[in-house]
Amino acid sequence: MNRELRIVIVGAGMAGIATAYTFTQAGFTNLTILEKGSDVGGVWHWNRYPGLTCDVPSQIYQFSFAPKPDWGHLWASGTEIQQYHRDVVERFGLQRYLRFDTEVTEMRYDTADCTWSVTTGAGDTLTADVVVCATGVLHHPFVPDVAGMDSFQGPIVHTASWDPDVVTAGRRIAVIGTGSTGVQVVSALQPDAEAITHFARSPQWILWAPMGLRQPKVLARMMRRWPALHDAAYRRLLWASGILADIVTKPSWRRTLVQSYARWSLRFQIRDPRLRAELTPDYQPLCKRQVVSGSYYRAITRPNARLVTDRIDAFTATGIRTTSGEHHDIDVVVLATGFQAHNYMRPMRIVGRDAMTLDDAWVKGPRAYRMTAIPGFPNLFTVLGPNSPTGSIPLQYSAELTARYIVKWLRRLAAGEVTAVEVTESATDEFNAAVAEALGPTVWNTGCNSWYFTDNGTIDLWPFDRATLTDMLSEPDPAHYRTA
Ligand code: NAP
Repeated sequence: MNRELRIVIVGAGMAGIATAYTFTQAGFTNLTILEKGSDVGGVWHWNRYPGLTCDVPSQIYQFSFAPKPDWGHLWASGTEIQQYHRDVVERFGLQRYLRFDTEVTEMRYDTADCTWSVTTGAGDTLTADVVVCATGVLHHPFVPDVAGMDSFQGPIVHTASWDPDVVTAGRRIAVIGTGSTGVQVVSALQPDAEAITHFARSPQWILWAPMGLRQPKVLARMMRRWPALHDAAYRRLLWASGILADIVTKPSWRRTLVQSYARWSLRFQIRDPRLRAELTPDYQPLCKRQVVSGSYYRAITRPNARLVTDRIDAFTATGIRTTSGEHHDIDVVVLATGFQAHNYMRPMRIVGRDAMTLDDAWVKGPRAYRMTAIPGFPNLFTVLGPNSPTGSIPLQYSAELTARYIVKWLRRLAAGEVTAVEVTESATDEFNAAVAEALGPTVWNTGCNSWYFTDNGTIDLWPFDRATLTDMLSEPDPAHYRTA
């Protein structure tokens, strides 16, 4: 290498850890990871609500370079996943690069010397040759603007900023939101609540799965003893995940089968026709991010639980009033209302070439080339950026692949072959046109409203299969970049 690159990674969640590991393995060790939280883990650090479980099987929800043979459950709890991230950071010596409680407020590109000035909330400025934004997707909580919210006298807590001091046992709880989070939190809080009211503006299809199953200890012993077996199991699961990508991206008998299973999950578990009707969505299963649960339907039929499908009209001092005029007396409100999923690195102010801001570049919604490069922003990459496959392909796979792709550019930059690299507008347009066309037959485009949609009506997802993902990010195409 001719020069040592100064690299800043923003975010120490799953994507940031995958990137840091990949870069250090490739010999790029002049790294600083800036993390605004007080720990690694990203969503697994911020989300600590009761019932938090990953609905992706643990043996596939892990880094390929850090297989864990002994997950406690087939679907691990949030606590166990968070500990896994800490362990990986320690095992690979990544702590030395980390700066916690450090929020990046601004990044500014200097065209003259092809560097980025990265400013933190504390007013420090770092100079970087390359910046990688691994800032996550589901990060900024969405808090709805409901009339009278300020007048409510009890606690209102968003699941993504859970307050452990909030008492829920023996209380009358309102949960707003029916996504993966709402379903998990209702299932967890119902047993000890005096009463739990689930406000379901749009019911979701819920696939039944035995989420509480422990991973057999003998499996852990076997995988520890024979790592090749563990590797084979991981590869098999990776292959199997391709079936999900196929199901969601192309209409087929497989999609129909899974959709039938979703309908069956509801019919089989909810016997009361009135409740079943209320729980039946008016769109196809899989259209929104699929919810998986083995406990929600049981919880919502308990005597202390109630589903409310009327719209919320307003909060009062003592509860919630719906548009039908009914008042629900409530002690604690839980907002499981999701995230502003298209912010990515914002509200950070990012100023690229020719003083272009990211807000200007993304005025029509987030847009990147192959999830990782943005025209106007040289020497800056995203890992799990726009169009990442949050609805189909394992995210660890995608993050590691993207990081290896960026390494190809790091090598050229370090060798002095180039000092600046920027994706072209035309390559980005071409990629986005292909994405828009491929999104047509996906299940996400069958008439529901979900967090996948941007304000401009585009779907912010990856509509291709894993082979295409791998192919697109195996080797940078020089024709798609301008270099200096
Ligand atoms: P979400 O899927 O975006 O759901 C938000 C919910 O809040 C929706 O039901 C929405 O209703 C409702 N809502 C928003 N504003 C409302 C209002 N004013 N009145 C009534 N309802 C309102 O959010 P999420 O459940 O947090 O899940 C987000 C994503 O996080 C998931 O899709 C998944 O990718 C990820 N996640 C994963 C796991 C896991 O186990 N792996 C667990 C939790 C979350 P509408 O549908 O009517 O808009």
